[in-house]
Amino acid sequence: MLTPELIASDNDWAPVRMQFPILDQEVFKKPLAYLDNAATTQMPLRVLDTIRHHYLEQNANVHRATHELSGRSTNAFEAARDTVARYIGSKSSNTIIFTRGTTDSLNMLAQMLERKWGASFSALVSTLEHHSNFVPWQQAARRTGGSFATIPLDAQGDIDLDAYAKLLDELPVGIVSVAHVSNVLGTVNPLAQIIEMAHQRGWLVSVDAAQSIRHERVDVAALDCDFLSFSGHKTLGPTGIGVLHGKEELLNELPPVAFGGEMVDTVRTSGTTFESAPLRFEAGTPNYVGAIGLAAALDYLELLGRDVVAEREHALLDYAEQRLGEIPGLQILGTPQKRAGVLSFSVEGVHPFDIATLMDKMGIAIRAGNQCAQPLLNEVYSLSSVARISPAFYNTFEEIDRAIDALERALSICRPAL
Ligand code: PLP
Repeated sequence: MLTPELIASDNDWAPVRMQFPILDQEVFKKPLAYLDNAATTQMPLRVLDTIRHHYLEQNANVHRATHELSGRSTNAFEAARDTVARYIGSKSSNTIIFTRGTTDSLNMLAQMLERKWGASFSALVSTLEHHSNFVPWQQAARRTGGSFATIPLDAQGDIDLDAYAKLLDELPVGIVSVAHVSNVLGTVNPLAQIIEMAHQRGWLVSVDAAQSIRHERVDVAALDCDFLSFSGHKTLGPTGIGVLHGKEELLNELPPVAFGGEMVDTVRTSGTTFESAPLRFEAGTPNYVGAIGLAAALDYLELLGRDVVAEREHALLDYAEQRLGEIPGLQILGTPQKRAGVLSFSVEGVHPFDIATLMDKMGIAIRAGNQCAQPLLNEVYSLSSVARISPAFYNTFEEIDRAIDALERALSICRPAL
């Protein structure tokens, strides 16, 4: 239960929470506790103001016109690319391709490698991946007749590194694509080790940072990952914008898979040549306002202090884990060595949708479903769905307490005998 320290901590964060007015409302006449941040985060006023300012003062298409407004818009867009590069520790903005989100980034990367490698396409993903980091690779392998395989997990929900080493040795060399943080178990994968093991054997590595970008420090130079993807809407930014980072020399060797304006160098009836990265991969008008909004979100996280944000999110998650552990019959999925961001749980005899629906009526927003990770849920845990709670730094310990009270009430309705 809440201690004076936790209440004081909530009070310290109250000014930050005021940046998120959406949180201050009622649903079903109950105060909202939004605990579905792994699905999407809320935008602070600073981001909304930045987007509004862009539309009010400097909106024009980028990279095209000679007029002043287009120049301002292009500068803001390219400054956003610089911000993203800095945020993830990349030395060059040329490594940053703006996409529609993580799913788009991973599909694009899989298709580019499919085109480059043809029948020798080979992808290795882990069993805990989101469908977005599973199906694009599986489909590319199917189309090319190449290889697609999965790395098993150990009993705790961590990647089995011995099995991983064996697969790297046995399979045709290709690309490993793994999540930094699992959206179901919260497992924080030992990326440095995973990347080093792959590189020692000549494999490329792609990191799905959709869940980690907000609460783990992501430094592509230190990690030496070849590619990294994430979405704006999971890190306080707008929807419809995401990032694919790739090492510049690798990107310039990859064929584009979408064609149109801006990505070309010369176009003749006899043939077309392409720009170098990143423009080569941004066909058509990019979502420049989304990119500018995303940069404002990353600036805001820097302003708060990335480590301070991470510490607060870990404290909220630890508290939620402790409180969930007090509920009889409730199973938290996985006991990974390091967990971040999410807790998925099931309760014997009660459907997760019933839990989430009843909690919703009490003002508590959590997620129930297969969490877009059917291989993990079905094949490892023999489950079709789970409930998931995912706090962000702007949540409070008091909201976690309210969520637990609501969960207990929901369970007392669903299993009155207990
Ligand atoms: N990867 C992970 C680990 C995720 O959690 C998600 C979304 O939940 C995605 C990829 C897909 O992200 P998006 O829907 O923003 O493309």
